[in-house]
Amino acid sequence: MNDTPEKPTAAKKAPAKRTTTKAPAKKTAANKTAATKAPATKAAAKTTAKAAAKKAPAKKAPARKPESRTAVVRRARRINRELAELYPYAHPELDFTNPFELLVATVLSAQTTDMRVNQTTPRLFAVAPTPEDMAALPPEELEELIRPTGFFRAKTKSLIGLSTALRDRFGGEVPGRLEDLVTLPGVGRKTANVVLGNAFGVPGITVDTHFGRLARRFGWTTQEDAEKVEADVAAIFPKSEWTMLSHRVVFHGRRVCHSRKPACGACPIAPLCPSYGEGETDPEKARKLLKYELGGQPGQRLKPPADYPGQPAPPMAPPAAAS
Ligand code: SF4
Repeated sequence: MNDTPEKPTAAKKAPAKRTTTKAPAKKTAANKTAATKAPATKAAAKTTAKAAAKKAPAKKAPARKPESRTAVVRRARRINRELAELYPYAHPELDFTNPFELLVATVLSAQTTDMRVNQTTPRLFAVAPTPEDMAALPPEELEELIRPTGFFRAKTKSLIGLSTALRDRFGGEVPGRLEDLVTLPGVGRKTANVVLGNAFGVPGITVDTHFGRLARRFGWTTQEDAEKVEADVAAIFPKSEWTMLSHRVVFHGRRVCHSRKPACGACPIAPLCPSYGEGETDPEKARKLLKYELGGQPGQRLKPPADYPGQPAPPMAPPAAAS
């Protein structure tokens, strides 16, 4: 998860003309619908990509007056429903089997891709499956194990620090409260929300680089500071939606609404987006920008959930044999 803040863009552009779209999805949580709605095959993923391209508007919408607060909230909730239909299989893209693994993987995900973390953690957790094991590892050994994720010295310090704190202050268990999690070395609000939302079922909004960028493009906030973005978005959506909303928005940011080249011409929520036109609007060209399962590429997880319609990520290539 890359945390580099990006410049807001939505505020600079006039909102798009409101367009009548298909009827909103049923008020069913995406995690409930995932099992029934997710495409089950690669072919289904392709169909999703084609549908995405088909739904895109042909030309840029004209500017119109700023929206009322009520209109912003209504449009935001419609976007959430559309994203729930588009990504019924949205999930955290880090492989984990327990709260400790998720906490470690999230710390490792700073400034790198989730796929690189997923390729690194199997070896790490085989050597150090518990906080006690990780706290006892010699730092040089831990550095070597996590080196592929980058910034491995700082991350080693955080992992040994947080593992020691879990062992000494929390009985070797990951605490399920935000105020405790943020006292752990290397754990900020974003990491704490990831762990709470996905390991403890406590609703949380995860503002990473993708979420912040899309929240600004959607006109949900003009803020760049992650905590302020979180507060603005929290005021729009009910708590029960926070965790899945985070996954859906991040999924869309990784697959369609990229930082530099958003695929507007292949974006199913273009009619609801005030930033339509910021990226490629030609449907053919835009479709080529789609990524992961929408672009026919492997996903980020080596062990994705059963309903994921794409291919799993490949394991890390073994080091080249010495000649
Ligand atoms: S890809 Fe374009 S239309 Fe779609 S959400 Fe991003 S900026 Fe809006």
